[in-house]
Amino acid sequence: MDKPIASVSRTRQILNSRGLRARKNYGQNFLTDVSVVARAAEASHCQGAVIEIGPGIGSLTEQLAARSRHVTAYEVDERLIPVLAEELAEYDNIEVILEDFLECDLNSKTEELLKEYGTVSVCANLPYYVTTPILFRLFEGPQEIEWITVMVQKEMADRFSAAPGSPEYSALSAECAYLYEVKKLFTVPPGAFSPAPKVDSAVIQFHRRKNMRAEEGLFELIRACFQQRRKTLYNNLKEYLESGEKARRLLEKAELAEDVRAQSLAPEVFAQLYELGKGMEL
Ligand code: SAM
Repeated sequence: MDKPIASVSRTRQILNSRGLRARKNYGQNFLTDVSVVARAAEASHCQGAVIEIGPGIGSLTEQLAARSRHVTAYEVDERLIPVLAEELAEYDNIEVILEDFLECDLNSKTEELLKEYGTVSVCANLPYYVTTPILFRLFEGPQEIEWITVMVQKEMADRFSAAPGSPEYSALSAECAYLYEVKKLFTVPPGAFSPAPKVDSAVIQFHRRKNMRAEEGLFELIRACFQQRRKTLYNNLKEYLESGEKARRLLEKAELAEDVRAQSLAPEVFAQLYELGKGMEL
């Protein structure tokens, strides 16, 4: 029996026999640690259908296919399409799509998969150069994608999962925490990849809260509240609302002190501010 694709020897054989080199501009760092790949797949709630972004040579795809009813994998590098077809030939539950994930029609694909398989989750070792746009595409995408489990740079994982009051807490963390319960599952050293990235990585998981939508107006307000991190909430709001008077009234309604800073506020507080602001027609 073949070794898993994620093993060092099989990865080497797949790449060398075809004269393939990882492409930096596509953020290609292939996972070569079977236990890391298996752990991520196992944690991903992938029983129904699972969407993978960037299957590479198939290390995670293989582990997902063994655990789910169906895998849909989006890959931009056309060189890898025949490799995936050959290396994963024994699985009949994988669809590889040659397309930039940022361009795909995520809503209709999710709808199609839901009808057929009941649940849709996402699991991926993300290309680091497009981590934020890919995650925001998912956050703004269908709510039915309940679980997202992804490998990202550790520093990004820290920012996404930061709690109010901690130095890493930002507009990004507040937006994320509003939509998801966010958990950092485990960290992964550079040696688990080939080629090795310069930084540590981490697997992070997002579990969608019920009936929470990525509202453009709310997210705009959150970003405005963090606009100048050293300024008070009042000062940031004053600029955003273009009026000190409006900012003061809004804070009063929300029963917040003028010297409070966005850094210390839970996502629900921003949501409350947003609702109060709508009511006051600011
Ligand atoms: N999943 C493989 C693994 O863990 O070994 C490869 C992960 S590698 C970090 C990222 C993969 O995403 C590469 O295969 C790369 O070609 C692909 N990729 C990069 N940008 C992409 C995009 N916009 N849409 C889809 N795939 C992309």
